[in-house]
Amino acid sequence: MVPRIIFGRGSFNQLNEILTPKRLNINAPFIYLVDDVFKNNSWLTSRIQLSYNDKIIFISSKEEPKTSQVDALVEEIILENKERPSGVIGIGGGTLLDLAKAVSIMLTNEGEAKDYQGWDLVKNAAIYHVGIPTISGTGAEVSRTTVLTGPHKKLGINSDFTPFDQVILDSELTDNVPKDQWFYTGMDCYIHCVESLDGTYLNAFSESYGDMALELCKEIFLGDDLTKVEAQEKLMMASWHGGMSIVYSQVGVAHAMSYGLSYLLGTKHGIGNCIVFNHLEEFYPEGVKLFKEMKLKHDIELPEGICANLTDEEFNAMIDISFSLEPLWENALGKNWKKIITREKLRALYQKM
Ligand code: NAD
Ligand code: ZN
Repeated sequence: MVPRIIFGRGSFNQLNEILTPKRLNINAPFIYLVDDVFKNNSWLTSRIQLSYNDKIIFISSKEEPKTSQVDALVEEIILENKERPSGVIGIGGGTLLDLAKAVSIMLTNEGEAKDYQGWDLVKNAAIYHVGIPTISGTGAEVSRTTVLTGPHKKLGINSDFTPFDQVILDSELTDNVPKDQWFYTGMDCYIHCVESLDGTYLNAFSESYGDMALELCKEIFLGDDLTKVEAQEKLMMASWHGGMSIVYSQVGVAHAMSYGLSYLLGTKHGIGNCIVFNHLEEFYPEGVKLFKEMKLKHDIELPEGICANLTDEEFNAMIDISFSLEPLWENALGKNWKKIITREKLRALYQKM
């Protein structure tokens, strides 16, 4: 679990105070990985105090993180510095948070990031790493994974060394998130709750967090009583609790299918989950019904026909990726999941999207 958290509007201002005692020496910089949406945003960047060789690297989140991108960043950081950095700070959405986690791991572990995609393959503790979300929903700020697309698979580096050492939850940083993206990433949280709470892996630990996050999502996406600030703060906590819920359970059908879309078509996580979940009444009847109400209330239109022109080969590639995520299917459908969901059935579902 993440050992240190601060929460509150304006808490981003405490960043320098938090980092100063963590500086190892003047040759060991802090590396800030920041979403390039903030490149010309001095309101945020002016509050980052750079000393010695500290560096801000702006990164686009147009595409989801790749193992090759992590390797390139690690190489750049090693070549530019005499010593290992004092810390890596990720500022942005799930994309930047995952990159920060992965880079901090790969700075202390040999080989390439793709070698560590899987469960508990990391050998050495990562360097100190801090996560500062600027959009809420993925739970990447709290989870034990960093999801990466590699040459052969889309799979996380799941390990005890992956979670952040420190997280700063300042909802003010989410002020300018565009509405569609707010919905897609927020629905990632909602879907985490539904898949965790309806899953066979559920236990009291996951359930308690999942219940809390689900109630918050209903209040945020279906209620009318919250101020903008309240809604932002509550979504930040929903994301946290939703993430905590899946730490000790698993996600399910929507995630397993959305990973296939993302691998083949580059569909991003939040919107991909929404596209898939919209067609999963059979598996999550109540959850999908509420999802459709939320979509209607916020006037969100999802893309259609994204699988319309795919070849047999492409469908097979997507199905292979999806089926490779066995724990997700087992959580969703139980130990006999292979009897319930066949390749033909999965293809028919993809064809609807
Ligand atoms: P994101 O990081 O991809 O960002 C989505 C968009 O929102 C980008 O265009 C970004 O520039 C913009 N944005 C972010 N903050 C903003 C702000 N304050 N103002 C204006 N624009 C802003 O989105 P996401 O949905 O948070 O993350 C998706 C990624 O998270 C995927 O790569 C997915 O695999 C990963 N993920 C990881 C976990 C985990 O546990 N590690 C869980 C779920 C998803
Ligand atoms: Zn998710």
